[in-house]
Amino acid sequence: MARVGHHVIVGGSAAGVAAALALRRTGFDGAVTIVDASPRLPYERPVLSKGLSGDEEAMFRPIIPAEEYRAAEIELRLGSEVDTLDPEAGLVRLSDGEAMNADRVLLTTGVSARRLSVPGSDLRNVLTLRDFDDARKLAAVIASGGPLVIVGGGFIGMEVAAAARTAGCAVTVVEAAPMPLLPLGRPLARLVTELHRQEGVRVLTGAKIEAFLGTEEVQEVLLSDGERLPAAAVVIGVGVVPNDELAAAAGAEVRNGQGIVVDACGRSTHPWILAAGDVTVQPHPRLAEPGRIEHWDNAQQQGAAVGATMAGAPRVHDAVPYFWSEQFGLTLQMVGRPWADDRLVVRPGADPRHFTAFWLRDGLVVAAAGLDAVRDLAMAKKLVERTAPVSAEVLADASVGLRALVKETARR
Ligand SMILES: Cc1cc2nc3c(=O)[nH]c(=O)nc-3n(C[C@H](O)[C@H](O)[C@H](O)COP(=O)(O)OP(=O)(O)OC[C@H]3O[C@@H](n4cnc5c(N)ncnc54)[C@H](O)[C@@H]3O)c2cc1C
Repeated sequence: MARVGHHVIVGGSAAGVAAALALRRTGFDGAVTIVDASPRLPYERPVLSKGLSGDEEAMFRPIIPAEEYRAAEIELRLGSEVDTLDPEAGLVRLSDGEAMNADRVLLTTGVSARRLSVPGSDLRNVLTLRDFDDARKLAAVIASGGPLVIVGGGFIGMEVAAAARTAGCAVTVVEAAPMPLLPLGRPLARLVTELHRQEGVRVLTGAKIEAFLGTEEVQEVLLSDGERLPAAAVVIGVGVVPNDELAAAAGAEVRNGQGIVVDACGRSTHPWILAAGDVTVQPHPRLAEPGRIEHWDNAQQQGAAVGATMAGAPRVHDAVPYFWSEQFGLTLQMVGRPWADDRLVVRPGADPRHFTAFWLRDGLVVAAAGLDAVRDLAMAKKLVERTAPVSAEVLADASVGLRALVKETARR
């Protein structure tokens, strides 16, 4: 176990903070510094797309209070951007010209919102949502009443649609695919889309953006079929790009726009550099092939495993992927990762405001999702964690309770 030294964590968010705390829990007693470009105390991102009420206290939730960093002797360098890594000299160089010695570096630099390259993308009020300042701008637009056009029907886009509609804005979602939320599988995506339509969100599918029109501020969105949508603001939610440039420049392998390649313990291909969170391409046993898992829970759990690894006690990260979302006050959850050929079984009684569903692979439960089904998902998580053998017929039988299934599969 390391007793001295200085570990530098670049990126103070879910993964970076979890890693710093794990370093201490694992007994590392050298110096630990978290550097983040944002001047704010590290905060929770998921709340940003859910609490778009304009109430800044509701939108800003620190991951842990400032005193906990002090108590754990974790130094925070906030408002400092890391410019380059110099592995030969063991230096982390900041954009203000300062350099820090580091025995090892952990990159938890996350991802950035992808922009669209169509005419008018740089107009004011063509927004993305990744950080607190973005959320503040968006909350102001929502408070002024819209109308809002959301480009991309992914989880963040649909959460913003729900929040804005709940606040009384006219909302149109423009999705290029045949349906929003396709990672849920068509039957479930259809239900959630129907929920949005019932609540008054206009959802356009198979639709393409031609241009954003306006002089300084966006005023209209022009679609490729010629339709013009009035817009007080546009939110682009078309995915993310990994912040992997520091790693690439320092000689660690990055995969073709996908992120930093790490092993199951978070070690990059460069011995000085580790990485965790959204920015990593990880060999997770629940993925069909190494890839990114962009969930808060993953970032925290992987961060903690990599922090232990950094402290000299290598720990594999294989926790089952889990995420949640909020749509019109209903909690949407998913546990596990379905693959393309998995069989989806939707439990009886599904409607646009409630469902529970499972994915089976070779007769084993590999993933589950639920809307307004928090208790079911707690049981489903156990089945997914143990990849329980359960038939599609049993899962589709309304008289079979999930608690009983959990008990029965534990006995086998
Ligand atoms: C609006 C929104 C809502 C979300 N909702 C959910 C949800 O409901 N459920 C869920 O599971 N997930 C949700 N997510 C995803 C979740 O927030 C991410 O998976 C998680 O934040 C990833 O954590 P991370 O630590 O890997 O990176 P990030 O949270 O992206 O943090 C990276 C940090 O690195 C810093 N940084 C980058 N480069 C540098 C540099 N060169 N120098 C210094 N600092 C740098 C950045 O300032 C940033 O603070 C949401 C994300 C967003 C944006």
